[in-house]
Amino acid sequence: MRIVDGHCDALTKLFQNDRLDFHADETELDVCFPKLKRAGVKVQCFAMYLSESITNPSFDHILQMVDIFYRRLLNHPEMMFIRTAADWRALEQSQKIGAILTLEGLDILAGNMTYLRILHHLGVRSMGLTWNYANWAADGVMEPRNGGFTKKGLRMLKEIESMGIIVDVSHLSVAGFWELVDIYKKPFVATHSNAKSLCPHPRNLSDEQIKAIIACKGLMGITFVPYFLENSMTDVPISSILRHIDHVGSLGGESHVGFGSDFDGIEHWVKDLRHTGQYGNIIDALCKNYTESQVEAFLYGNWRNFMLANLPQ
Ligand SMILES: [Zn+2]
Repeated sequence: MRIVDGHCDALTKLFQNDRLDFHADETELDVCFPKLKRAGVKVQCFAMYLSESITNPSFDHILQMVDIFYRRLLNHPEMMFIRTAADWRALEQSQKIGAILTLEGLDILAGNMTYLRILHHLGVRSMGLTWNYANWAADGVMEPRNGGFTKKGLRMLKEIESMGIIVDVSHLSVAGFWELVDIYKKPFVATHSNAKSLCPHPRNLSDEQIKAIIACKGLMGITFVPYFLENSMTDVPISSILRHIDHVGSLGGESHVGFGSDFDGIEHWVKDLRHTGQYGNIIDALCKNYTESQVEAFLYGNWRNFMLANLPQ
């Protein structure tokens, strides 16, 4: 069974720790090559996120992360960089694992269109607009004032749209989300968010938001953060993930739902889902509850269809 995972933070850990080896079975990495291989992950998205603990974050830090992505992650004959739909199709003819480079939060771009274009040149194909708090472009979902976009943010959003970079609304404020729905013409994704009506965490999406993602032919990645699945940190079972899939399905989203684990960005885990190598436990649970073609769509096909339609051809 092939798998696409729409979000992980392994790059952040590699950036913070020079000694971590992506190609070894590192206990400190939830996502690393041997675990991806074992699980059958075919495509993994790798987010560049600058932790709030970095003093004086700069564009240079993001360039260092891109360098790490090329130098310590893609430097394996079985890893393949996915920048276009054609890359993805070629990947399917090989035994390799595909990697998509993404940015979590526009913070560091500071309205600079040259920076934006440079990241696109370097292969960044999806961008989250904010992390949890406000940045120069828009408010994040934990920002109490719940503002939307700034003028500069809207300007960059237009540029992102015209360049064909995929917009990721996970972490965006509710007001920002609806502003985007009004003005943004292309399909967009929430790479790692769950259903608010099942778990009322601010990071989750209301039914109306989920319907808007479905309506734009977007994609929602169900995430394995325990407290976005249930109101609990521990002992959250895999069946809880299935409840969220069911819910998106009940809103008409069966073809618009996939996974975005948030591995390496979490410090609590779903039971029996401690790292990417344990994806098989989800597959087992899915196979007991859905048809083979549904399971294939949730794990792989829905993300694949979205990416083939929205990556540069
Ligand atoms: Zn995140």
